[in-house]
Amino acid sequence: MQKGQIGVTTENIFPVIKKFLYSDNEIFLRELVANAIDATQKLKTLASFGEFKGELGDMRVEVKVDKDAGTLTVTDHGIGMTADDVNKYINQIAFSGAEEFVNKYKDNANSIIGHFGLGFYSAFMVSKRVEIRTLSYKDGAEAVRWDCDGSPEYTMELCDKSTRGTEITLWIDDDNKEYLEQSRIDMLLKKYCRFLPVPVVSGKEQEWKDGKYEDTDRDKVINSTEPAWTRKPADLTDEDYRNFYHELYPGQEDPLFWIHLNVDYPFNLTGILYFPKIKSNLDIRKDRIQLYCNQVFVTDSVEGV
Ligand code: ADP
Repeated sequence: MQKGQIGVTTENIFPVIKKFLYSDNEIFLRELVANAIDATQKLKTLASFGEFKGELGDMRVEVKVDKDAGTLTVTDHGIGMTADDVNKYINQIAFSGAEEFVNKYKDNANSIIGHFGLGFYSAFMVSKRVEIRTLSYKDGAEAVRWDCDGSPEYTMELCDKSTRGTEITLWIDDDNKEYLEQSRIDMLLKKYCRFLPVPVVSGKEQEWKDGKYEDTDRDKVINSTEPAWTRKPADLTDEDYRNFYHELYPGQEDPLFWIHLNVDYPFNLTGILYFPKIKSNLDIRKDRIQLYCNQVFVTDSVEGV
């Protein structure tokens, strides 16, 4: 077994993460699911270049709540990590002046986390312990277990895991029990993950039976992997555009018109701008644009557009 100290230059990054990023702590789920999707996409890319010749198999990402155990688990079947990878990507947070930086940007957790690759560590905003179990796609790789209780000390050892990919388990702390409710997780996944390019499943589909909703055996898929804005305008009918609008804004009238954007320079942007029929000045969606980066929801309050 390997024991070590996570390579941060500040004394202890965890209290910093907990304290300053607290207000926006729900984004931990977006970060973990985004990592799972990245790992999945990377393996698909390697397969398309012939660098991975094995079976891709079921590539869905799963988010599982276990209220009794007090855990939330995010599982993928992507590239996984070797012990070297865990050392390089998880243990060495190349992070200088962390505290100073976090202080400066404390009102905007999004920008720090995105910027400094603190994505994975955002799990500690809501957890008292985090475990990674991972098996790399590489031939002859051995599975690794990494465990950390929120101090800068971690343990790392070989473990039994026969399925390729990564499983991240969070022991949710007492202040954040809300993340052990399937309904809360569903809400967050709908907010951040509904258009991710890989299917994300969480909980079961429900059916109305004997006067109440009951779980079925079918996994509940959260997202639509090919939202309209990622498709070519030539492949979309007016009906498709209207349906997509109603999916986003249920109960609204048809939009007045829309523009499908596809910009390559000076930055890459695709999107659909819908112009709703505005009836009163109180319409809360006025001027609202939803911004996604690689199909991950970032914000719906883009100023000055
Ligand atoms: P970022 O994603 O911004 O690079 P993170 O802290 O979220 O920063 O993750 C650091 C690195 O750890 C990732 O770049 C990736 O190499 C590795 N990693 C994290 N999660 C996974 C995962 N589920 N599967 C494989 N590698 C992962």
